[in-house]
Amino acid sequence: MAVADDFIRFSCPAVEGGELDYIQQAIADGRTGATGGPFGKKVASLLTASHSAEDSLLTTSGSTALELTAMLLDLRPGDTVIVPSYTFVTSALAYVREGARILFADIEPVTLGIDAGHVAELMDDSVRAVVAVHYAGVACDLAGLQEVLADHPGVDLIEDNAHGLFGTYRGRLLGTFGRLSTLSFGEPKNFTCGEGGAVILNEARDIDRAHTLHDKGTNRRAFTVGEVDKYTWVDRGSAFGLSDVLAAYLYGQLEARDAIMKKRRDVYERYAELLAPHAAERGFTLPTIPADRESGYHLFHVLVADRATRDATIGALRAAGISAPFHFVPLHSSPGGRRFAAAPAECPVAEDVAGRLIRLPLHNGITDEQIRRVADTFLSVIP
Ligand SMILES: *Cc1c(COP(=O)(O)O)cnc(C)c1O
Repeated sequence: MAVADDFIRFSCPAVEGGELDYIQQAIADGRTGATGGPFGKKVASLLTASHSAEDSLLTTSGSTALELTAMLLDLRPGDTVIVPSYTFVTSALAYVREGARILFADIEPVTLGIDAGHVAELMDDSVRAVVAVHYAGVACDLAGLQEVLADHPGVDLIEDNAHGLFGTYRGRLLGTFGRLSTLSFGEPKNFTCGEGGAVILNEARDIDRAHTLHDKGTNRRAFTVGEVDKYTWVDRGSAFGLSDVLAAYLYGQLEARDAIMKKRRDVYERYAELLAPHAAERGFTLPTIPADRESGYHLFHVLVADRATRDATIGALRAAGISAPFHFVPLHSSPGGRRFAAAPAECPVAEDVAGRLIRLPLHNGITDEQIRRVADTFLSVIP
């Protein structure tokens, strides 16, 4: 058999339920645009209800969801936003596009989430928001962040919850802690429609303006609900909305949320079971989920001894037909991060982790045989 036939992909979208039927229905219904379609409404209602939020708006991506949160902050020249260094580029870029400078915070070594102690040190009068990422689906130190933010009432918490949908912290759903939170439904995420995202509005004060920004700066929503008698241009904004064809795809995925979460949890636990007995002796570390958190099970990552081991292991896995990439060059050390930083940053944990982390294949369709092959191959190739 050719290697390509049994290549194990790192991530792979799968049909989980009604997606194909719903896409056909969306096209037949004829409202395929981003406003007023039936599937967009169903998905937004599902997200609003599951978060007990004020409202939810679907967007073209997780990145544009973050951009919408940045516009809602109404940033002024000189404003800064605190962002963890170890995250996807748009967690920072969204705020840079609105004129902010970034203060990069280091991460904690266990959860790989933002270090609340470092956030406390970075706080000054220029800070308008702190962006928290729940890495791999595991909540960051939300109690620590809330303690810091209690002393700075003008500073908003925004959760970039691209990894953590349906994860919890002390029994409460991730994405419900910030003034705003964002989701991604891009190809590699737990729930996908190819490209998509959402903003969860946890405060009523954001509802009107968020709809205006989302709908090309118009007051269409106020017009639709009968609050004004003209539909016109009133503010800044863009075409942030998700097509109802993609919302139909996403609705099929979200309807299957319990089955999807169970599959991902099973894969995660199987890797842990196969690898844990060898970790100490072979010099690698497995991820930890603290007892007060339930994971969103987005990633399963392994930390190996050093960068050379990491590169050699990824290369050997690839040669054996397994895609197990690293990711996230620490943003504070990237050319863009240095250019848009408010001040030079030191993030030693982010730098250390970025050089040692490997993500193992985790997707809804991976078989037990494939999981065993990944684990066996990993154990045989790690130096
Ligand atoms: C995927 C991701 C994003 C961006 O989402 P897109 O839908 O790809 O634009 C933002 N932040 C984090 C942490 C992500 O993993």
